Amino acid sequence: MIKVSNISKSYGKEPVLKNIGFELLEQHTMSILGKSGCGKTTLLKILAGLENSDSGSFTIDGSDMLHMPPQRREVVYLSQEPLLFPHMTVEQNIGYGLRIRKISQNELVEKVEVMLNELGISEHRNKMPDQLSGGQKQRVAFGRALVINPKVILLDEPFGSLDAHTREDMQTLFLKIAELHHITALLVTHDVKEALIMGRKFARLDAGALTVYPDKKAFIAAPENGIKKEVGFWNELMKEHEQ
Ligand code: ADP
Repeated sequence: MIKVSNISKSYGKEPVLKNIGFELLEQHTMSILGKSGCGKTTLLKILAGLENSDSGSFTIDGSDMLHMPPQRREVVYLSQEPLLFPHMTVEQNIGYGLRIRKISQNELVEKVEVMLNELGISEHRNKMPDQLSGGQKQRVAFGRALVINPKVILLDEPFGSLDAHTREDMQTLFLKIAELHHITALLVTHDVKEALIMGRKFARLDAGALTVYPDKKAFIAAPENGIKKEVGFWNELMKEHEQ
């Protein structure tokens, strides 16, 4: 289980995260809804070990993570723009994490093959990143993250730069892969529909303060998330056109 408590962070005098706390069970995904600038990236980078917090704790199954170097945390951070190695093929990018862990060549080939198939990018295996579409790049980034079997995946607006159709495809693919690989994930997004589709647990980050909702019903009902207002809008529109 993931346990985060009292994480705070300021840049100079500006508090960016205020006493963040939550718990997340293994194999669950928590969606965090938040606007740009609310502190989403800072929070994920702290959990991944790419940024220091001023205070607080972060444990996985009781083990302290905050004082562990990023490469030993088994926590992978995936940003909106997939950062692939430009000089490596799709296959080499996916296998990278395994190569540096020095596993046997046979096992490496086998694991990469499984990833390529699951992500539907087998036919692109020999392409370089600049020969791929946005959605394909994001699939490769997923593959590279998943192949090492991390404990937690941190998704920072992962589908934000994709067109609506590709975005939906990626959401469906993520749900399938999450189930297949028993993934535990934190997903931050500004898109309430995406939060609902992807999450099992729900929270909101507003000006550095995190509210965790007891369940999906409470997330939907909370006026600050604007769901009822949106439904009201569509209902009104439908009524007008039915008359
Ligand atoms: P989000 O991902 O929600 O858009 P960020 O976590 O990137 O937000 O940033 C939250 C706030 O912290 C913003 O006001 C941003 O300007 C500030 N911030 C982020 N990184 C730094 C930094 N390295 N130095 C100073 N301020 C920063």
